[in-house]
Amino acid sequence: MSVTLDTIANLAKKRGFVFPSSEIYGGLRSAYDYGPLGVELLRNVKAEWWRSMVRDRDDIVGLDSAIIQDRQVWAASGHEASFTDPLVECTNCNNRFRPDKLEDAGVCPNCGERDSFTEARQFNLLLKTHLGPVEDEAALAYLRPETAQGIFINYENVRRTMRLKLPFGIAQIGKSFRNEITPGQFVFRTREFEQMEMEYFCRPEEAAEWFAYWLEQRMAWYVDLGMDKDKLRLRAHDEDELSHYSTTTSDVEYQFPWGWDELEGIANRTDFDLRAHTEQSGQDLSYYDQDQDERFFPYVIEPAAGATRTTFAFLIDAYSEEEVRGETRVVLKLDPRLAPVKVAVLPLSKKEELMPDTRAVAGALRSSWQLEVDVTQSIGRRYRRQDEIGTPFCVTVDFDTLDDKAVTVRDRDTMNQDRVAIDQLLAYLRERLP
Ligand code: ATP
Repeated sequence: MSVTLDTIANLAKKRGFVFPSSEIYGGLRSAYDYGPLGVELLRNVKAEWWRSMVRDRDDIVGLDSAIIQDRQVWAASGHEASFTDPLVECTNCNNRFRPDKLEDAGVCPNCGERDSFTEARQFNLLLKTHLGPVEDEAALAYLRPETAQGIFINYENVRRTMRLKLPFGIAQIGKSFRNEITPGQFVFRTREFEQMEMEYFCRPEEAAEWFAYWLEQRMAWYVDLGMDKDKLRLRAHDEDELSHYSTTTSDVEYQFPWGWDELEGIANRTDFDLRAHTEQSGQDLSYYDQDQDERFFPYVIEPAAGATRTTFAFLIDAYSEEEVRGETRVVLKLDPRLAPVKVAVLPLSKKEELMPDTRAVAGALRSSWQLEVDVTQSIGRRYRRQDEIGTPFCVTVDFDTLDDKAVTVRDRDTMNQDRVAIDQLLAYLRERLP
C-alpha cells in the first residue's frame, strides 16, 4: 500500500521510533534522535547488514575507524576540491536549493516566484571543525562525509594484520556528516546520518564481474528482509552524474512516497583512492601478488548504503492498514529479524493474581528476545499498539492460566491465537522467531 510521509513521521514520533533532534527548542532538521523503538530497529538493520557482509563470509572483515581524520585524507580523496552540490538562491525570498532536486526548475518551492534563481554555483558539503584551542587554518578538520576513506587509509594495516589475499573486503558502519543544502523528507536526507559501507578490493580485470555480483547481492539483501521487490529497482548513473572517483555506479532505488529515490550507491571506484593516498602520503599502497609475481593497485567495488535511510525505508515498506470488523488496523509488517520488540507479554488485567505467571513468562523469554511487558489499558488497545510497532507475537496471561498453566499466543499478521502451555512456550516461539 502507499503511505504518506506524514503518516510515517507521525507514527514514528507517537510510538517512540524517531524524534526531531532538539525538539524542545523547535527541532533541527539536520538530525534526528532515535527513540527506544527506533534504536532497536536501527540496530537490527545494522546487525543484519553486518551479518550478511562480515559474519557470514570469509572474504570480508570489519573496521571501526575514527570520524576525525587528517585533513590530507580529504585533500587526497578529492573531497576538499570536488565534494560539491550545485546551489541556487531565489532572489525573491533568499532561500537556497539544490537545482537538481527541484520539482519544477523554474519555480521557487518556498515563495512560488518564477525564474528568480541565481546561476548555480558549487557548494562544498564538508562539515568543518577545528582541532585544539586555536581556530586557524592549520587546525581545520572535517567530520567525515563517508566512512570509506577510513577504510582506504587502513587498507595496508588490515591486509597485513589479517594476511588477506585478493579479492577481499573491508566493511564499516558509522556516522557520516554532510552539510546538505536542503535536508528533508524526514530522516531521508540529514546532515548527520549513519552509513554501512564495504570496500571490495579485487584485480582490475575482475572489477566488472564483482560489480555485477554486488549489484545482485545487495538487491537480494533488501528482498530477503521483506522489502517489496516491486518497490526496488537498480538505476545506472548517467556519465554526467558520476562521482569524481567512479567509472560506473548503479543506485539501488526505493519507491518512496515522493517517488523513486536512492537507498544505496554501488560504485566501481577503480584504483582512484589507493593511488591518491599513495601519492599524498608517500606510502606505497599497491598490492604484491606472490603467485603471479606482479605489483599493481587493486580496483574497488563499493556498496555504500545508508543505515538511517534504509531503516526509514523498512518502516515505510512495513506500514499497512487493514479493515478488521469495521475498524482500521495499522500493522508494521516488519520481518521478525528487524522488529524492535519480538514478544509482548500482556496480562489480561492488572489484578495481582496474574502477576506471578506474567513475571515467570517474561523471565523465561527475556534472555532470548527483546520483550515488552505491558499491563495498562484494555487488551484490545494493547494489541493495537503492538501491531503498530510491529511486534510479531503477543503472549496473554489470563485467568485460565491460573488453572491450565497455559497462555494465548497471538500472531501479528494472521491474528490467529494459539493456546500454548507455559513450559512449551519457549520451544513454540523458537520455531517462529530468529
Ligand atoms: P544523494 O544523491 O541522495 O545526495 P549520494 O549519491 O551523495 O546521495 P552516496 O555518497 O552514494 O550518496 O552515499 C551512500 C549512501 O549514504 C546513500 O545511498 C544514502 O543511503 C546515504 N546517505 C548519503 N547522504 C545522506 C544524507 N544526507 N542523509 C542520510 N543518508 C545519506
